[in-house]
Amino acid sequence: MTIEEIAEAPGNPEPSGRVRDLFLRQQSFAPTLRASTARDRIARLEKLGKALRARRADIHRAGVEDSGKPPEEVDLSEIFPVLHEIAQARRHLAKWMRPKRVPPTRAMLGTRAEVRRIPKGVCLIVSPWNYPFNLSFGPLVSAIAAGNTAVLKPSELTPNCSRLIAGIVAETFPPEEVAVVEGGADAARRLLALPFDHVFFTGSTAVGRQVMKAAADHPSPVTLELGGKSPFIVDESADLDRTVRNLVGTKFVNIGQTCVAPDLVYVHERVRDEFLRKLKARIERVYGGDPAAQRASRDYARVVDQRHFERLQGLLDDALARGARIVAGGDLDPQSRFVAPTVLVDLSAGSRILEEEIFGPLLPVIEFSDLDAVIREIGFRPTPLALYVFGEDRERIERVLDGAPSGGACVNSSVIHFAHGNLPFGGLGASGMGNAHGEWGFRTFSHERAVLVDRFGLSHLLFPPYTGKVRALVAATLRFFT
Ligand code: NAD
Repeated sequence: MTIEEIAEAPGNPEPSGRVRDLFLRQQSFAPTLRASTARDRIARLEKLGKALRARRADIHRAGVEDSGKPPEEVDLSEIFPVLHEIAQARRHLAKWMRPKRVPPTRAMLGTRAEVRRIPKGVCLIVSPWNYPFNLSFGPLVSAIAAGNTAVLKPSELTPNCSRLIAGIVAETFPPEEVAVVEGGADAARRLLALPFDHVFFTGSTAVGRQVMKAAADHPSPVTLELGGKSPFIVDESADLDRTVRNLVGTKFVNIGQTCVAPDLVYVHERVRDEFLRKLKARIERVYGGDPAAQRASRDYARVVDQRHFERLQGLLDDALARGARIVAGGDLDPQSRFVAPTVLVDLSAGSRILEEEIFGPLLPVIEFSDLDAVIREIGFRPTPLALYVFGEDRERIERVLDGAPSGGACVNSSVIHFAHGNLPFGGLGASGMGNAHGEWGFRTFSHERAVLVDRFGLSHLLFPPYTGKVRALVAATLRFFT
C-alpha cells in the first residue's frame, strides 16, 4: 500500500476503506510484534536511526522550506532528540521489558506475582508543526520500543516535513508496522473514529479536548502533550547574566514556537531595570541591533503561516492598545512572516498576551515584589507545561517548586529538561496528561499487566458456600490482614 493510496479525500467524516484497511492490517500484525524481543525492536529502531542520518540534508531542507529554521536548530531540536531516544532504548530496553517481581502481601502468601509490560497494540500518533520530526518520530521510538504498530498523522501546516516523514517511514517500515496518513483535521478525525489501543496527541489544548472526546467513544487511552503559558521567574537573588543568556537562548529558538518556551516573565522589582537592560543587550548581541540585521540573521526562523503571523500581530496590537511599551524589537514583516524578538513591559491586566499561549517571539515582562503572590497566581491559572525559576536563594526556589504546579520545571535553566532522557516529559491539567521520553515513553505505550501465579495460596478457603467455618475465616481475614 502506498502513501498516496492511504491519503484521504477531504470532507469524508468516516474512516474510508483505505484507512480502515490499514488499521486492520496493523491489527493483524500486532500479535507478531507482541512476541518480539528487545533485540527485534532495537533492530527496527536502528533502521529508523539510519534513515534519519541518511536523510539529514533533506530534513534540513524541509525545515528551511516550511519555517526558515536554521539547520543547527534542526539538528539540535529535531534530529538529536530522536537519535537520543533511540540510543536510550538501545541501552536500556531489555531492562525496561524485564518483568518486575513484587513481593506477596500478607493475604497473598503462597503466590508469586510480577508486573509485565506488554504492548498496547495499534497506536495513533498525531503531531504538531513546530517540531515535526521530533514530535512524530520521538513518540514513534517509544511505540516501537514497547512493541506496537503505529500510524502517524503529522501536521498539514508543514507540508514539506510531512511529506518527508511519510517518505522516510515508507522506505523504512512495511505499512502493517508503521504508516503515515497525511492531511489536516479531517484526516485526524477519520483516524480517531477507529478504536486505536492508544492515542498519543501533541498539539494545542483546544484540539486536545476534541481528541479526548473522540477517543472516549471506544474508549482509547490518550496521552495529551499540550501547551500553555510557561512562567519564567527571575528572583532578586538571580545571576542576571546567566538568566538572560538562558532566556534569549530558549525563548527565541524556533522564534518561540516551542511548547516549553518561556511565555511570561516575572521579574523582581529590585532587579527589573538591570534585567531589562541586559536582556535587550543580549538580544542585540545574538540577533543584531536593528531590524535590518535581525531580518538578515541566519539564526532566526520565521512564523509558520499567515494565520499565526496575524495571531501574533493581534496579540501585540492588543497589548499596545492597552498601554504596553516595547523595550526591544517590535518590527514585523507580513511578507516574510518575520516577527522580531520583542520584549514588552507595562502590561495591563486583561491583555490577551497575558492570557493566551503566545507561541511566538513576543515576551511580556511583569514585575513583582511578593514571591508568594506570583506562586498563588500561577496556581490559579491553567497549569503550565513548564516552570522556570532563576535565583541563588535555595529557600525561595523551593518555595516556588513546592507552591506552583507545572508539568516540568528547571532551576537556573529553561527548556533543557525536555532533552533529559531519564526524566518524564508531560503536562498536568490544561497542559496535558501522561508522559513521553525514555522509559516513561516506553511505559506510556505499554500496558502494565498484573500476573499472579498461585502456588499454594489459601484464597480457596474463602470460597462459597459460606459455612460457619468460612465465616470464621472471613472474620479472621478482616482481623489479621488489615
Ligand atoms: P494543533 O492542535 O492545531 O494541531 C496538532 C495536530 O492535530 C495536527 O496534526 C492537526 O492536523 C491535528 N488536528 C487539528 N484539528 C484536529 C481535530 N479536530 N481533531 C484531531 N486532530 C486535529 O496544534 P499545532 O498548532 O500544530 O501545535 C501548536 C500547539 O502544540 C501549541 O499549543 C503547543 O504548545 C503544542 N505543543 C505541545 C508540545 C508538548 O510536547 N506538550 C509540543 C509541541 C507543541
